[in-house]
Amino acid sequence: MVALKVGKPVTITHSSKAAFLDCPHKYYLSYERLLSPVTLSTNLVIGDVVHRGLAAILSDKTTIETVISDVIGPALDAVRSAHFDDPEEFEAHATAVDAMIVGWSEHRGFLKDLRAARVGERQMIEIPFDVSIPGTAARLLGKMDAIVSLKDGYWIVEHKTAGQLGEGYIKRLAVDDQVTNYFYAASQILPSKPVGVIYNVLRKPSARPTKKETLSQYLNRMVEDYKARPDFYYYQTKLYRDSDSVKRLCNSLKYVVEDIQRSRDRSFWVRNTSNCTRMGTCSFLPICTGGELPEVMARYVVREERHPELKSDSAD
Ligand code: SF4
Repeated sequence: MVALKVGKPVTITHSSKAAFLDCPHKYYLSYERLLSPVTLSTNLVIGDVVHRGLAAILSDKTTIETVISDVIGPALDAVRSAHFDDPEEFEAHATAVDAMIVGWSEHRGFLKDLRAARVGERQMIEIPFDVSIPGTAARLLGKMDAIVSLKDGYWIVEHKTAGQLGEGYIKRLAVDDQVTNYFYAASQILPSKPVGVIYNVLRKPSARPTKKETLSQYLNRMVEDYKARPDFYYYQTKLYRDSDSVKRLCNSLKYVVEDIQRSRDRSFWVRNTSNCTRMGTCSFLPICTGGELPEVMARYVVREERHPELKSDSAD
């Protein structure tokens, strides 16, 4: 069993594991030092707001208008004064969130009219989990969007927002670790093993407001477009995991936990410089290239939480 330092247990989420595998130094800055850039990522904020809207639709028999006015609107207002990496892109995507939700509510396949299941007293919506990683003292943390009960048993529901929705994106879902995390965690907390995962992808708008268009004209254009091209904007599939996939997941989690512990023990975190600019520019590049000078560190804040996306008022 991997020995962990007292008072500093390793807790892994899908995001922190991905960060470690991308670049151990990135993991160190983000999950050991708890540094976050002062500017917010449009993708993460919009994904969070859309999740809140979809959760409200699945949890209550409420109207779409109410979801937009009581859930989406306040969630966007709460972040409007923040600094964004691309303010224009944020404004366009924030305006189009209503269109994504309206379009999805009209075109949500067999989830139409379904509500989150109840297990005991609990409605299974935005379900945090904290389960053991076999062979370690570490824990796997995360949050599932919802669980519904169909004729054949429990199904986990996962929503994603995506910029691109191509063949590669869809093929990869068959081995996606986050899906396997959910399957493993749900097996631990439900009265019976889940059947699988219903995976919904909502494509974000690629069009931006034109120079002649007001934001409200842009919104109307997007609402019509989301309604007119559901197959372009929405994708729904059912995913399954067998015991071999779960075993592979647990082994890979154990491997990552051991590597994190080794890096801690040696106070050495490998820098994978191949990934500094591979998927956009790494948000820690100023630290890695400029050092921890006061003017560099002024671009970061120290978070209170290691995994803030798991707080009850946010979505992963
Ligand atoms: S800038 Fe490069 S080396 Fe530094 S944390 Fe990011 S990926 Fe790692």
